[in-house]
Amino acid sequence: MLVAAPQVRLPARDAVDRALAELERRLGSSKVDTSESGRNSHATDESEAIGRMPDAVVLAESTADVAATLTIAEKHGVPVTPRAGGTGRTGGAVPVAGGIVLATHTMGKILEIDRQNLLAVVQPGLVTADLHAAVEAEGLFYPPDPNSLKTCMIGGNVAENAGGPRAFKYGVTREYVLGLEACLMGGRVLRTGKRTIKGVTGYDVTALLVGSEGTLGVFTEVTLKLVPKPTEVATVLALFDDVRAAADAVRRIVAAGLVPRCLELMDGPTLVAVRNQGVAVDPRAQAMLLVEVDGNAGTQLDDALERLGNALTEGGSTIDVVAAQDASQRSRLWEARRQLSPATRKLAKYKLSEDIVVPRSRLVDLFVEVDRIGEETGVRHLTYGHAGDGNLHVNFLWNDESERPAVDRAIDGLMRATIRLGGTLSGEHGIGVLKAAYLPLEQSPELIALQQDLKRVFDPSGLLNPGKIFPTGHGSC
Ligand SMILES: Cc1cc2nc3c(=O)[nH]c(=O)nc-3n(C[C@H](O)[C@H](O)[C@H](O)COP(=O)(O)OP(=O)(O)OC[C@H]3O[C@@H](n4cnc5c(N)ncnc54)[C@H](O)[C@@H]3O)c2cc1C
Repeated sequence: MLVAAPQVRLPARDAVDRALAELERRLGSSKVDTSESGRNSHATDESEAIGRMPDAVVLAESTADVAATLTIAEKHGVPVTPRAGGTGRTGGAVPVAGGIVLATHTMGKILEIDRQNLLAVVQPGLVTADLHAAVEAEGLFYPPDPNSLKTCMIGGNVAENAGGPRAFKYGVTREYVLGLEACLMGGRVLRTGKRTIKGVTGYDVTALLVGSEGTLGVFTEVTLKLVPKPTEVATVLALFDDVRAAADAVRRIVAAGLVPRCLELMDGPTLVAVRNQGVAVDPRAQAMLLVEVDGNAGTQLDDALERLGNALTEGGSTIDVVAAQDASQRSRLWEARRQLSPATRKLAKYKLSEDIVVPRSRLVDLFVEVDRIGEETGVRHLTYGHAGDGNLHVNFLWNDESERPAVDRAIDGLMRATIRLGGTLSGEHGIGVLKAAYLPLEQSPELIALQQDLKRVFDPSGLLNPGKIFPTGHGSC
């Protein structure tokens, strides 16, 4: 994991000054923030990526504002970094070439909820939890639920193709994006996709834009598919004496044909953080699975729960299986799960979190590899995450700067082990700055070159979110 700013072309000072003067004239000075505090608060995200202080933050309030910014920035050769909630974990919203941060949190409206066609049209700065609340009040459901849901925004979710605990049953953001309005560098405005479930006209440009990490276009409107809200939900907690036994139980659950909506795993060191949050967990437990099943009235949840109980206990190393007794116990458990990232951060001075994915059948092998890497490098680690998807957050913890080279070796070892196991480097956080150097481990030079060609079609001047996804000479692995 490399945290130095990548080598990117920096804009000339006089070009930046001309662009900012023109932006102020066009948008009004209240939308162009050049204050130190404003620039500072848009210079980082929730990752360790190091950027360059932006010269200005544009607070866009409309598609016209976004298009004007991208027109003026291209004219003067100034880089633009799109931003939504700033909760990204790989530096996607971190401006690595200075220039303009294009903030979209100022575009947070729900434009439409269409009950008949089961869709919502929203602006990119809508907080994900606010969308959940609004559609659930209408008996509808938007399943993608990144654990940062109270602070991340739909634009960022689409750009990262965000997942979350419910992805095992319902899939990730991509499955819910029907259409987009996006502005390209230079100011062209495109509408992609449709308002229907079916539709195969032309290339699927919407799918290409989802997960493009702010490098192809800036979303100004998102049309999202909704589903009916499940009426029945049950949460089950299983405790194990060994993390590999918990990983094996995941395999058994899937093999039994069960499709829980969430299948979350926490290892022993993670349970320390859970206990620190005031959740009582049996001291013998070295791993926990948090499993949630849902359905609509009339579905046989009891039958699913019984089969789930059998799959959980079959391996013989289960300490306990308990169902959450009521809604408040359920929400306490989930709150503890959703707060794991900040809670585990308190266990050491420094923490780096990876989000690798392996085929579910290789979960046990992954834990063997993580233990080996920990032993070889001496780096403390803990693991939790969306085990049903094979998507785990392997976290490395350390207290002293001198340990950093060992941490880098541990991360490198993890990336290589993931690829050996048939997995992928990122399940939901994206490549951003932090994983760019590792991209060649997973993708061929031909595939990387093809994607760079596509990038040039959308953004010939290379000014939209430079330094992201593709290795740029800031080191290699
Ligand atoms: C505690 C915590 C828990 C998390 N849990 C999860 C999880 O369970 N699942 C998960 O997937 N992620 C998770 N994340 C990571 C993060 O929340 C997601 O990547 C999220 O989708 C980022 O959304 P954001 O609004 O914060 O985007 P930002 O961080 O602002 O931006 C992310 C990327 O999107 C681009 N972007 C932003 N707005 C636009 C736009 N309008 N148009 C085009 N591109 C744009 C940016 O340039 C950047 O590349 C977690 C993060 C934290 C801190």
